[in-house]
Amino acid sequence: MLSDDLFKRASRLFPGGVNSPVRFYEPYPTYFSRASGSRIFDVEGKEYLDFCMGFGVNFAGYSNTTIAEEIMYLLDNTIPEGVPTENEIELGEIIQKAVPSIEKMRFTNSGTEATMHAIRLARAFTGRKLILKMNAGFHGAHDYVLVSAGSGALNFGTPSSPGIPEEVAKTVLVGDFNNEESIRELFKLHGKDIAAVITEPVLGNLGVIGPEKGFLKFLREITEEYGALLIFDEVITGFRFRYGAYQDIIGVKPDLTTMGKIIGGGMPVGLFGGRADIMNRISPEGNVYQSGTFSANPFTVASGLATLNFLKDKDYEYTISLATWVEEKLKSFSDLGVQVNRVYNMFTIFFNEERVWNYETALKSDRKKFMKFFNFSKKHGIYFSPGQFEASFVGMAHTPEEVEMAVFKMVYTLEFDM
Ligand code: PLP
Repeated sequence: MLSDDLFKRASRLFPGGVNSPVRFYEPYPTYFSRASGSRIFDVEGKEYLDFCMGFGVNFAGYSNTTIAEEIMYLLDNTIPEGVPTENEIELGEIIQKAVPSIEKMRFTNSGTEATMHAIRLARAFTGRKLILKMNAGFHGAHDYVLVSAGSGALNFGTPSSPGIPEEVAKTVLVGDFNNEESIRELFKLHGKDIAAVITEPVLGNLGVIGPEKGFLKFLREITEEYGALLIFDEVITGFRFRYGAYQDIIGVKPDLTTMGKIIGGGMPVGLFGGRADIMNRISPEGNVYQSGTFSANPFTVASGLATLNFLKDKDYEYTISLATWVEEKLKSFSDLGVQVNRVYNMFTIFFNEERVWNYETALKSDRKKFMKFFNFSKKHGIYFSPGQFEASFVGMAHTPEEVEMAVFKMVYTLEFDM
């Protein structure tokens, strides 16, 4: 069973042969059949050290038996779908305790849904129409945010999508991350009509780009000044750098937060939450509608609970020191022609001559070279997220030995293969 055969079959079913565009790369994607710890195995049995980790989902590692046993135990005491359960309360309480700004919350089935509902709520709460997002900030694939979006939308050169009514796109303003002036200008022009600023506090979908000093605090201040809400999209950063949210590392408190990925432990999940006075506007307490057959479904809740219980006592510093090591080692070679951006335990290797810190500098990166690097790395048994504008992740299951070997192979690839 070869990947090219599977791709031919898949292409008869799925547009582009895949169920999400970021999974495709030329000439066809490798198909995988098994995963364990930090490793994934393709359909031909070849083994890879994984830095994509399900686009950041599998932070605790694959096939974790402690987590699997707890999931089975939790599922014993629940029924499938559609009724309230004690487990969803337990998961909610863990998140509420770990992220103080989340006074109340709702679970959804994806990050996309979470940001869609957070935005609707912000519009309803403020009575305003406009949303301000960052150029190449990615918040999922719904109409409100697929304007100048990052990740796949940028890798494929379609910054926004046909099919989104112009009227909807017009309600979305686009500023530049790490550029206070661009945001201030938009507030000067439209401040009274801006319902919310939504941003990833650390960009992960333009590749990894951290906030410059003071930028997030500036967003907090300007939104307060104009009566707009601040939404941090922590779908990637939630429970990744610490047992909680990034906002509490940086000390900037948003009004609303969205989460996903890690909090579902590998099952489909999303969450939006924040100030109780805002969240209480959600139906049936308020009149802002949000619902979902599968919201807080028992499988997601069990998987999320077991994962967060597992991570509770884990040493996050461990993952951060491994990622730091990747960065430092690669940087110790001055002539590799790449920039390594790292924020805690996530990183991107940019094929770029200059420091990458915003949209403009990121776009100067050589996407073709990155894909060449991606393919050579794959040949050497390392799997990165397949795109220049994606993040790579170090999780709890990576070991120092395998990361050291991987860095050795990366340097070899950059020096001799490229
Ligand atoms: N927000 C951010 C920051 C993301 O990175 C993503 C997906 O990668 C989303 C939202 C959308 O989440 P989902 O793919 O679960 O819909």
